[in-house]
Amino acid sequence: MPNITSLTESEAAVLSAVPKGLLRNGAWVDSSTGMTLGVDDPSTGEVLVEVADASVEDARAALDAAVAAQPAWAATPPRERGEILRRTYELMTERNEELALLMTLEMGKPIAESRSEVAYAADFFRWFSEEAVRLDGSWSTAPDGKSRIITMKQPVGPCLLVTPWNFPLAMGARKIGPAFAAGCTVVVKAAKQTPLSMHAIAAILTEAGLPDGVLGTVTTSKASSVVSSLIEDPRLRKLSFTGSTEVGQSLAEQSAKGLIRLSLELGGNAPFIVFEDADIDHAVDQAMLAKLRNNGEACTAANRFYVHESVLDEFSTKFAARFEKLVVGRGTDAAVTLGPLIDQAAVDKVEELVAAAVAEGATVVYETPLPKSTGYFSAARVVTGVSPTSRLVTDEIFGPVAPIVGFSTEDELLGWANASDYGLAAYIFTRDLDRAVRVSEKLEVGMVGVNRGVLSNPAAPFGGVKSSGYGREGAHVGIDEYVETKYLSLNVG
Ligand code: NAP
Repeated sequence: MPNITSLTESEAAVLSAVPKGLLRNGAWVDSSTGMTLGVDDPSTGEVLVEVADASVEDARAALDAAVAAQPAWAATPPRERGEILRRTYELMTERNEELALLMTLEMGKPIAESRSEVAYAADFFRWFSEEAVRLDGSWSTAPDGKSRIITMKQPVGPCLLVTPWNFPLAMGARKIGPAFAAGCTVVVKAAKQTPLSMHAIAAILTEAGLPDGVLGTVTTSKASSVVSSLIEDPRLRKLSFTGSTEVGQSLAEQSAKGLIRLSLELGGNAPFIVFEDADIDHAVDQAMLAKLRNNGEACTAANRFYVHESVLDEFSTKFAARFEKLVVGRGTDAAVTLGPLIDQAAVDKVEELVAAAVAEGATVVYETPLPKSTGYFSAARVVTGVSPTSRLVTDEIFGPVAPIVGFSTEDELLGWANASDYGLAAYIFTRDLDRAVRVSEKLEVGMVGVNRGVLSNPAAPFGGVKSSGYGREGAHVGIDEYVETKYLSLNVG
């Protein structure tokens, strides 16, 4: 284990057990170049382990295997595919503790939150194990009565799944689950900062009986060339990407040439709206979750707080009082409630946004103390008096900072809320049902939490509009991203 002097026995054990190679045709192999890349512990900045660093040739070999495995996998009975997903759910549930520890080590979030993510990710496998046997078609009589129109759903074919570091398991699970349920084979490229969780579920899927070649992994330090080489390969039929809007736009352009089917789950800038009639204590509870879950590094994170001016002081004071109870530190410590950010660039970005807001006249009303550490810690802050045009409001913060803006009318609020290019999530707090419905319908987003600060649920359709992308993950519609509808015209004499 390079550089690490202070790993506990259980930390060393999970790191030692996780595969470090590339999964190809059911076996873990080294990169063709022999290169490796280091995976850091964001709470220390030290390298935890080295993993194989895939080349363009390795990516092509993974696609070769996926293409070869595609016909047999598509022909595998849906119940058998579903049983593999179900066993994966069960194994992940049994091993929640080890998987959670691995995730916290590479990503940094508090261990309790990693346990929740493991359960959430496993639930996608359970949900899609059930959906695998529910794919249906239709039968109808043509309007002139001379033929019958029959439709069937077939797998799109080999898929490339590209995932980010912020939810190392769940972002992969909500793509792999429906792809396998539909009968597609997969090459998955996890983020280079957090590949270990993905390697662990790839190993569990293999143990659950996944046939060789159906899943390949290509962890790499060369995301751009590896991903582009696969998009350019005419055998690839589908790309599902979760990550930043900027990279998503570039991948959409590249995919246009081969008309690759696309799902894009991109950045967000969720407004958290507190009306004057809201239950303020409940809104504060939910604000803590919406803002600080995942260290503030969630696409659905509350990015800007719009609070009616009549309750602005009460909300800000109670919210800041809750921040005072936060414990910042290494996520493996059970007492810690806020971990480090993913890297120094993330810390620097948060500092720049806060400094710009303060220079414009905003006030930091509370800031958490930070541990003495070489890790990437960033203070949790409540910031009031923020201008509605400040970059702290218009940019995706991806950190534990809560900027609060006061508003006076519903129209003013809706203008600000919809001014963003992003359209992933929004949260509204009110006891007025008419207002809840009216505002929810007018918000330009894919998901609205009404008196709730958490939206994620495998049974619900997750996705955004505008620059937050297109396509939906989870729910009954999640599998539609991985199937084509074929129509058969049956002559009736
Ligand atoms: P990112 O930089 O776009 O990276 C996402 C993935 O794309 C990683 O696997 C990354 O690989 C890869 N990648 C980076 N540059 C690439 C390129 N030029 N060509 C091909 N692939 C490339 O995003 P991130 O910083 O990891 O994640 C944070 C973003 O994801 C935020 O904007 C967040 O809102 C968004 N997100 C959205 C959702 C959603 O469901 N809407 C969920 C979670 C996160 P490497 O990291 O290995 O270089």
